[in-house]
This record gives sequence, structure tokens and C-alpha cells, in this order.
Amino acid sequence: MANIVAIVGRPNVGKSTLFNRLVEERKAIEDNLSGVTRDRHYGHAQWGGKFFSVIDTGGYVMGSEDIFEKEIRKQVKLAIEEASIILFVVDCMVGLTDLDADFAKELRGTDKPIFMVANKADNLDDLLMANEFYALGIGEEIIYPTTATSGSGLGDLLDEVIQKF
Ligand code: GDP
Ligand code: MG
Repeated sequence: MANIVAIVGRPNVGKSTLFNRLVEERKAIEDNLSGVTRDRHYGHAQWGGKFFSVIDTGGYVMGSEDIFEKEIRKQVKLAIEEASIILFVVDCMVGLTDLDADFAKELRGTDKPIFMVANKADNLDDLLMANEFYALGIGEEIIYPTTATSGSGLGDLLDEVIQKF
């Protein structure tokens, strides 16, 4: 089976930034005003000599916190069907939200490996916030803090992800 990594999570947590880091091409659309990513995007990546595809799944249009439950379901269903591994991205600066919990609920339906990525762990205070996401009780035993804008933490995450291929 092909190695496919899907990136899921609520808008504005840094999914597209992460995607762009992984594929090192500017294919996903980043838009910090509206949180819009127009389509799902596919890219190719490699780490530690292993090749894999990455899907940026944020294909909904929304204003702020107002995504419909069915959009979340659609996104998660797509990830579960198409991916071999799921990166569930949350935002340390904002902390745990109801939408994160909605995603977690939908993600419980799969036995595919899920890595919780606590993004925007830019400094020590943000990093400490990552601990609150353990309350979601989902994913591998540990949460992976990252700063997608700088690439910090991605190496440790990918080292573990490629073990699952
Ligand atoms: P998406 O909606 O989940 O795809 O989020 P985006 O990738 O579009 O990012 C939303 C905003 O967060 C953009 O302004 C990014 O530059 C910013 N962002 C992404 N990752 C980080 C990070 O690690 N730290 C900080 N401070 N900002 C980030
Ligand atoms: Mg996006």
C-alpha cells in the first residue's frame, strides 16, 4: 500500500504551512484571514530515505469557528479512507477548542495511526500548552510539538511517522 499522510484539523492551526514544509513546494493555499484552503492538495515528500504522499485536507470554506459538523465528517472520512497515517493538527497558541474535540470524536472511528501535532509551539509558554491536548485522549502516546513556520519539531515527528510505513 502507498504511504499517504493526511493532515487534518480545524482551520488556521497551520495545516497548509505544515504541508508546504513537508512537500517543500508552495501548493497549498495559505490564508490567515479566512482560513480558506480551496481544495485538497496532494504533494510528495521524503524523509529518512522513505517516500510518501501528503494530503492537505482543509477543503472547506468558512468564516471563523463556524464549520458545519458535516464538513468535519467529510474531511475526516476522506483522511481515513485515503491515508495510511493521519496528522491531527492543533494550535498551542489558542489551546484546546470545541472544534478540536469534534475532530477527535470523528477520528476515534479509525484504527489507522494518528499523530497529534501541537503546532505553533513557538516558545516555552506555547510548548507547555501542548499538554492540555492530552485531554483529547487520541493518537500515539506522545504529542509532537512543532513550529511549522520554522520547521522546528518536524524532524522528531517524521522520524516516528516513517516507522509506521
Ligand atoms: P490551516 O488553515 O490549518 O491550513 O492554517 P495555515 O497553514 O493557513 O496557517 C494559518 C496561519 O498560522 C498562517 O498565518 C500561518 O503563517 C500561521 N502559522 C502556521 N504555523 C505556525 C507556527 O508554527 N507558529 C506561528 N506563530 N504561526 C503559524
Ligand atoms: Mg489550509
